[in-house]
Amino acid sequence: MKIIKIFLISLMILSLIWMGNVAAIQISVSSDDSTVSTNYMLSDDAALRDGVSIFDGGTVVNRAARGTGSNSISTNVGGDDYSAGTAVYSSGQFSLSSSIIAAGNGALISQDTGCSGDAGAEIYGIANGGAAGQQAAVLNGRLSSLQNLAVGGGALASQDTAVDGESGSLGSSAISPNQLIDVSGSYSDEGGFIDAKLSSIGGLAVDMQGTANIVGVECLDDSILGTLKSNGYSMEMDGVYEAQGGDTATFNLEVSNIYRASAVSRTMTPSVTSLSLITSGGRHPEIVANPPGNPSSYVLEEGMIDSSNPLQLYLRTDSYLTAEGLSASASSNAISLAAGTWDYWTSASLFTSSVICDSTKDADTVDGYSVHAFRPVSGTALAYTRNYFDQGGYIVESDVVYNSNYAWTTDYNTARASRGKTKDLQTVALHELGHTCGLGDLYTLPSSDPRASDYYEIMNLYTGPRHYLGAGDIAGIQAKYGA
Ligand SMILES: [Zn+2]
Repeated sequence: MKIIKIFLISLMILSLIWMGNVAAIQISVSSDDSTVSTNYMLSDDAALRDGVSIFDGGTVVNRAARGTGSNSISTNVGGDDYSAGTAVYSSGQFSLSSSIIAAGNGALISQDTGCSGDAGAEIYGIANGGAAGQQAAVLNGRLSSLQNLAVGGGALASQDTAVDGESGSLGSSAISPNQLIDVSGSYSDEGGFIDAKLSSIGGLAVDMQGTANIVGVECLDDSILGTLKSNGYSMEMDGVYEAQGGDTATFNLEVSNIYRASAVSRTMTPSVTSLSLITSGGRHPEIVANPPGNPSSYVLEEGMIDSSNPLQLYLRTDSYLTAEGLSASASSNAISLAAGTWDYWTSASLFTSSVICDSTKDADTVDGYSVHAFRPVSGTALAYTRNYFDQGGYIVESDVVYNSNYAWTTDYNTARASRGKTKDLQTVALHELGHTCGLGDLYTLPSSDPRASDYYEIMNLYTGPRHYLGAGDIAGIQAKYGA
């Protein structure tokens, strides 16, 4: 033991000397039945102190590191029937304090990270046929995350994370032999942020708990997670917010809840049992015969409406709606026209022919009702859609929230004259209902992708009122549901 200690102290001194010009060092410490192996990539001015002690049957590492520039430290821990790991990287300010206790039958890891620049932190454990993990990352911003892991017989992972900067992401996963619950969230541009406290359990069974707030929107809490778990539902949430400088940016949160046996035979092929066109009572969707845009400009997301069971949409009529100066009839008509525009281009039946006004139904609750509602949303979110889908991949509910902190209108000319300040309900509903149908955003694609700059598509950015679909939107809905 004495020899090892001296060995480690001398290594520490050596590593401080070698750290110029991004030295890469790997140090492995093994006891009888566990191994702790660490890769260090440290910049010139990074300081690192690893206190390592080996006791009978295990290893303890107490680590403190800080610096600037490009730094990363990753550690893999292995024992008899488990493995685990952590990784932290940063291109700016970097500080890490962590402790690792590894024994043959299990390990405890705790890491407290504060980073800036392009930065990330993750932790995971694998045991007993399952796994649990937590992950967070930021581009050109700040990240602080406290992450904990207990592994052995199963794995419990948690994170308490705050992220802000150019773009950010979040992940939490829980895996058993039979089920996968995976949370992933992100935002795309400056002005966005994430606050999340999540915990996941993997092994013979899975569990997921916690909260996630993205750009000020409470995307996830225990009540939503509880309903998803008890019904076997997944959820996909897509929203837009105003980034710094007034650009439109996107945020998203997905909860995949997959029974792994059924996931194998999962089919996303549309069951076109009804070939009758909806003869919409009074709906006159705006149709352009030769729509502009590129027919390849679409993104298909997971989940689709079961066309043998078209979605009935509701509009919540409450004081937020009237405070916008919107009438229930004009608003429900605008949403109905938007729904009918998608329906027009496919022979599958996506939506029933009218939108029901109801003051008792609300969005953001998993209740089987697909509700469009106005409400104040803190932060800069404009609107978002939450889809819930079952194990077959069929959407069982789709809620849309319009942020009542913005001005909205059902009058095309008012929206156009405002030059983007007053949002046109039918246009935004047309975009959000594209998500309800299972189409994804185009403006989140990398700028090298030609679809990202095809602004003729409704699934691209809001650039003012537009009531018809582009060629790519139409190709997308037909790829999903048939022509
Ligand atoms: Zn969108």
